[in-house]
Amino acid sequence: MRVVFLGTSSATPTPRRFLPAVALVRQGETFLFDCGEGAQIRFRKAGLRFSRLSWILISHLHGDHVTGLMGLLMSLQMAERVEPLDLAGPTGLADYVLANKRLLRTDFGYEVRFHDLDQQGGVVHDGAEYVIEAAPLEHRVPTYGFALAEKDRPGTFDLATAEALGIPAGPLFGELQQGRSITLTDGTVVRPEQVLGEPRPGQRVAYVADTRPCDNAVLLARGADLLIHEATFAGDLADEARKKKHCTVVEAAETAVKAQAKRLVLTHFSPRYLDLDALRDEAATIFPNTEAAVDLLTIEV
Ligand SMILES: [Zn+2]
Ligand SMILES: [Zn+2]
Repeated sequence: MRVVFLGTSSATPTPRRFLPAVALVRQGETFLFDCGEGAQIRFRKAGLRFSRLSWILISHLHGDHVTGLMGLLMSLQMAERVEPLDLAGPTGLADYVLANKRLLRTDFGYEVRFHDLDQQGGVVHDGAEYVIEAAPLEHRVPTYGFALAEKDRPGTFDLATAEALGIPAGPLFGELQQGRSITLTDGTVVRPEQVLGEPRPGQRVAYVADTRPCDNAVLLARGADLLIHEATFAGDLADEARKKKHCTVVEAAETAVKAQAKRLVLTHFSPRYLDLDALRDEAATIFPNTEAAVDLLTIEV
């Protein structure tokens, strides 16, 4: 998986930082977490393809996280998209899109499938290869964090052993790869573990947007290969963070520790911070494997 930070500021954009949006590219499919103003510009700049976009996951309906959405949806229309698009967020997201659509007298040639997290919660999508989870966070309005968790993949197929066991190449290989035992013409039963290596563990990426530290943030981030966490303020503004229901870099790092995440990338910085090294260093005293995101930072998971 590849993660690209499209916007890393909070509240207002700065000359260097756009508003929150993070793209995740996985096997030809692209997911977008939040869609701040200008997300589509960064999306293009990062060389991502609109046609691959399959899910947009909106954490909450604060302007900085959603003002880029209509422009992006309209660009998909201009690109003559026909594939459906899945759009998940709190109640009100569908209204926001539909009202804009009506007032702007625009129409989409593709289906937008709304997923209302206030109704649905929990598992947003359970597919063959991955699960998308959502969990409510603690912010000033209903807000969700997300995790994309790949399912474990079967181990590598040992061709030499398969041949030695006398399994003919063809559909029986597939059966074994999918974890089912097979019976050869002479009656011999071959079990999948005879020809498959150790299962390959799936990766987990968690996106924790605007919130106070909370249990659900830790749950989403548990064992994550990558935790993307808001860090609006430095540690000395803990009161401000509490008042505005955000996190400091220290609190974000503490969540990473509690969740036993493997790697932490901080984002959603207050526009007051120009130099992020100090923020990163402060978090790294608690959770060493920490980075501070800049726009267009790309991370391989
Ligand atoms: Zn925000
Ligand atoms: Zn917010």
